[in-house]
Amino acid sequence: MEYGTLYVVATPIGNLEDITYRAIRILQEVDLIAAEDTRHTLKLLNHYEINKHLISYHRHNEETKSDELIYKLKEGKNIALVSDAGTPGICDPGAEVISKCISEKIKVVPVPGACAFVNALICSGLDVETFLFIGFLPLNKKNRKQKLDQIKESAQTVILYEAPHKLSTTLQDLKEFIGERKVVIARELTKIHEEFITGTIDEIIEKTQEIKGEIIILIEKSENNVKEDFSKMTLEEHYKMYENQGFEKKEIIKRIAKDREVPKNEIYQHFC
Ligand code: SAM
Repeated sequence: MEYGTLYVVATPIGNLEDITYRAIRILQEVDLIAAEDTRHTLKLLNHYEINKHLISYHRHNEETKSDELIYKLKEGKNIALVSDAGTPGICDPGAEVISKCISEKIKVVPVPGACAFVNALICSGLDVETFLFIGFLPLNKKNRKQKLDQIKESAQTVILYEAPHKLSTTLQDLKEFIGERKVVIARELTKIHEEFITGTIDEIIEKTQEIKGEIIILIEKSENNVKEDFSKMTLEEHYKMYENQGFEKKEIIKRIAKDREVPKNEIYQHFC
């Protein structure tokens, strides 16, 4: 008997229109849908008048449910895997059954669609060329510190998922570990209260005290690690660059001296 296929189907992250024609067709055609939360997925299925057998597949039963799904796939059943929102496997269950399928030579097919962090990144105004997606920061102190160190040194835009009630603690940690850096909060993407809040960490702390809804934190890459050729810039251009980033004169002089590996005094004299 031919094996079935596991379709990994992305679903909306808020706005129910953000689903592809193909995803809907596949949800209609498969034999069953494995969902992170069956009641949540039912709302989507009802919206699109899809009547399908659902089984639950979540963090706490991933191991056992994966075996059950593999058994059904080997019987020739086609299965769609969905999470509560966005792309399965991205900070959501999915990895376990996908890797088992691969080792059992069962076909795994991605059905693309929404993914929260990609949409946050593209509209953040931060560098999109290279980025570091971390997901949720670990709660364990040691692991958390390691990640914060990584963020501090990152020469790429950093993206974090966070729950609103933990945002203030996370922002305080960021302030302590990485210091002054531009931050963007992407909130409630694709929903009525969608917004992008931009500022320094201090400004963001101030602006997000009462924040609610789903949020993503984006952090500007560390300029310290971007090896720019400052010799191609005049001192005035170099000064303007930092001025545009919102730094005060004293800090600008310090940074220029560091970038050019010259004594601070030399730069100070030029501008005074
Ligand atoms: N699998 C999802 C994806 O593809 O992005 C992510 C699931 S993860 C459990 C949930 C987190 O994603 C939230 O805590 C939030 O950080 C982010 N998120 C999901 N939907 C969002 C939205 N509409 N606006 C902002 N952030 C969102």
